[in-house]
Parts: sequence; C-alpha cells; structure tokens
Amino acid sequence: MIATLFNGAFVTENLTEKLLWHASPDRATAPTLRSPRLVFGEALNPPVFILPPSALIPPSSVSRHVIIIGGGVIGLSSALAARRKGLEVTVVDDRPPLHHGCSFGNAGMIVPSHVVPLAAPGMVALGLKWMWNPESPFYIRPRLSLDLLRWGYQFWKASTKERVSAASRLLAALHLDSRRRYEQLAADGLDFGLVQRGLLMLCQTQQTLDEEAHAAEFVRQLGIPANVLDRTETDALDPDVHMSVCGAVHFPLDAHFDPGRFMQSLHRLVQTEGVRILRSKPVTGIEREGRRIRAVRSENETIDGDEFVLAAGSWSTGLGQQLDLSLPMQPGKGYSLTLPNPRCLPQLCSILTEARVALTPMGARLRVGGTMEMSGLNEAISPKRVQGIIRSFVRYFPEFTEADFEGISPWAGLRPCAPDGLPYLGRTSRFENLTIATGHAMMGMSLGPVTGEIVGQLLTGEQPAHDLTLVSPDRFG
Ligand SMILES: Cc1cc2nc3c(=O)[nH]c(=O)nc-3n(C[C@H](O)[C@H](O)[C@H](O)COP(=O)(O)OP(=O)(O)OC[C@H]3O[C@@H](n4cnc5c(N)ncnc54)[C@H](O)[C@@H]3O)c2cc1C
Repeated sequence: MIATLFNGAFVTENLTEKLLWHASPDRATAPTLRSPRLVFGEALNPPVFILPPSALIPPSSVSRHVIIIGGGVIGLSSALAARRKGLEVTVVDDRPPLHHGCSFGNAGMIVPSHVVPLAAPGMVALGLKWMWNPESPFYIRPRLSLDLLRWGYQFWKASTKERVSAASRLLAALHLDSRRRYEQLAADGLDFGLVQRGLLMLCQTQQTLDEEAHAAEFVRQLGIPANVLDRTETDALDPDVHMSVCGAVHFPLDAHFDPGRFMQSLHRLVQTEGVRILRSKPVTGIEREGRRIRAVRSENETIDGDEFVLAAGSWSTGLGQQLDLSLPMQPGKGYSLTLPNPRCLPQLCSILTEARVALTPMGARLRVGGTMEMSGLNEAISPKRVQGIIRSFVRYFPEFTEADFEGISPWAGLRPCAPDGLPYLGRTSRFENLTIATGHAMMGMSLGPVTGEIVGQLLTGEQPAHDLTLVSPDRFG
C-alpha cells in the first residue's frame, strides 16, 4: 500500500498525485486536506505519516473565509497564520477589546522543559493529598457532576508511563517549534519583552531537588538541555535576589515574556495584516448543513464562512456540544498578582517547585501566579488560594513580605484542561470544514505560535510538520 515518499511522508499510491500540489507554487487549483487524522507508521524512522483517503477534499471546496471562534492566544495565533497563508479571516470573541482573559494575566513562560502532561503517574495521589488544604496548589470543588466524574476517570486512565512517554516526545517537538516562532516574531519587531535566560525550578529540599534532577534526565533524553545546580550555583545565576533554596534545575532553552503585551501586539499585528476582529460578540449558535458548518450566530447576527476554527478556550466544550462533539475539559482556574515596583527583581523566571508557584519578571514588574482550582466555569477569586500563593512566594524569597501584596488586585484565568493533559488540535472527522484548537491547559502561551501555524496548515491543506494523532479532537468520541 505504501508507495511514495513525499516531503518526509509516505502516502498511498492513489493519493500521491493529489498531494503533489503541495510542491507546486500554484495552489489555487489544489485540493485541501480534510482530516488530520494520520496513521503513524511506527516501524519507520524518521516518523512517517500515511494519509487516509478521507484526508482530501476536492479543489472546488478550497477555503476562503475562515471564522475563528475565540480571540485568546490560540485564536489570534491561528488568525495570523491563516491570514499569512492568504485566507480571509474573521475572529469572533465575546469579550470587550483586550479584556484580560486567560491569555493575558498568566506567567508568560515558554517551556520546552514542560514535556510531561498534567495526566501523569503519581498526579492522582498528589491531587488527592492537596485537595484538603485550602491554600494548596490544587483543588477540586466537590460537586455532583457527571462531567467531572468522567473527566476524573479519563485523567486516571491517561496517567500511564507509556502515554506520558509518547506525549512527551510530541510536546517537546511542539514547544521547540513554538519557541523558534516566538524568536522570529521578536526578530520581526513584535514588542512583547522576550527574555531568553531560561527557567529555574527552585527547590527548597534536597528530596525535591533529587526528584527534579531525575525528571531533568528524562527531559535531556528528548534533546532539551537541563543543568542541576547547588545553592551557590543557583545564587550565581540570579545574584540580584536572595532565594531560600537548596538548589535548582536550570532549563536554558526556556524563556519568558509579558503575555498582556504580547496579546496587545498580536492583536494590532493581525488587524494590520487584514484580520477582522469582532469583539463583545458571543457566539450563541452554530448553524450546520449536513457535514458542513454554514455560519455562527451571535445574538441576532449571522456570520457566514467557508471554514471554522473552534478556539474558545474553556468554553469550547459547551460550543462543541452544540455540534455533538465530545471535547471534555475542566476549567483549571489559576491566579496571579503583579507587583508594579518589587523590592528586588529576579532576572530569570522560576517555578517554586514544592509550592507549584510561578514567578516571572516582566520589565520592571514582577508577576507571581499559581494554583489549579477546578471549581467550574467561573472566574471568581478565592482569597484563600491567593493567600496560599503569597505565603509560598515569601518563603522562597524572604526579602519580600506578605504586606508587599496589600492593595494588589488578583487576576484569575481559566486554563482549558483536557483529561489527558494534551490539547485538542486538528480536524474533526464529523465535519468537513471545522478545525479544533483548544485544551492547551498550562501550555497555551508556550504552544500558541506552533498551534497557529498548524491550524493555518490544516486550513490550506498543507501537511502539518507534526504527527497530530495523540491530539486528535476525536479521541474521546
Ligand atoms: C495563572 C496562570 C499561569 C499560566 N502560565 C502559563 C505560562 O507560563 N505558559 C503557558 O504556556 N501557559 C500558561 N498558562 C496557560 C495559558 O494562559 C492558557 O493555556 C491559554 O491562555 C489558553 O488560551 P486560549 O486561547 O485557548 O483560551 P483563552 O485565552 O481563554 O481564549 C478564549 C477566548 O474565547 C472567548 N470565548 C469563549 N466563549 C466564546 C463564545 N461563545 N463566543 C465568542 N468568544 C468566546 C473567551 O472569552 C476568550 O477570550 C497559565 C494560565 C494561568 C491561569
């Protein structure tokens, strides 16, 4: 069956001709890929994808106008890539311009070091231990919810060594690809304060440092450098602050930036390049005709399109249900506080490992954030959780006091968390013109640009550079 090697991919003989247009400069008459669900030829090295016959749609259906639901980092990154590939793009978002949703107040870290998805061995036990402490980094509000129970079961089922190993390879490749795209955006003059000094996993106990050193070995095997540091070496790396730690693991390829600035700059950039952004427009309905989406409805208005992208973060589950799609997710609420004039300023971003708190210098400001609170689809602030973040931070950085945070308003955002800790990224087999890009949980900023590029590729029928089998939006039915 396997006949031809094309651009790193084997394709079945009857598809070869149709695929050759990818090499041609004239794509106007070319067919478009319909389904990204690729069959992975595991025995071959390098990875090989075999496209199923359903992957192609005829030239007459080549997309022109793309409607993207959601204007967070994933929606706007997709808009940029789609526009640059020559498509007409409209983004529809329910919030007012630049309202601070999940893509704005986060820790702004680009994390090739974070290759282990949330669903991993040991996480269920850790979660159960943390659940009972109101200041702990993880909390599930007990409630009678079938969706939550099902999500928990799927999480438990996904937390195996084998799955983590496969997912880690994919995540490493995606993070590194995305990091290169951030570098390019910065080189092109996009203003978002990119700092490439790496990330420190700060550890207060030798036991944690040993565990992190072990985890670092796993990450190193995926080609991502990591250095285990004792206390003196950690201090030497960031000499301007006093850290109460026993050591750290330094991941030099990680980076950080100001996500609010990035979103503003990206918003301006996509508009300059011709993307139409409709704000304060909740998508309230999706109109379909057989296996095609025809339009989205926002209150009394109907917006027609040829292609549709669902990138509505934590709200994508509900919108997917309107289309009978199963995209299970729980919103994982996190908080952040930003000190405008900190007493001192670390030069590197870090994670306070035992406390699971993230720390990011953003220009002259310092952002502290954390917690994963699963309490439903709401952005209400829990003062106890915020207090837990502040307490942890001053334990690691004793030059600061809890009083430094008086008068600082906490921000909350909802991470879209799939039960297996991986995004939903690709075409769904249920519809001919729908691409899903959501579920990035704690990695949405880091994976934003590569996700956008993949969405653009899927919309124009290019072969994505990454195997999307593990992140298929159809994997939960
Ligand atoms: C405390 C914290 C720290 C974090 N730190 C990092 C980090 O350091 N690095 C990292 O990579 N990630 C981090 N994240 C995760 C990251 O912020 C998310 O993964 C990312 O923002 C998700 O982006 P999104 O575009 O999918 O969703 P969102 O940003 O939520 O965007 C979705 C948009 O769709 C809109 N929408 C919803 N429903 C509708 C509708 N019906 N009609 C129209 N529009 C709709 C929403 O209002 C929203 O504007 C952090 C998250 C938190 C909470």
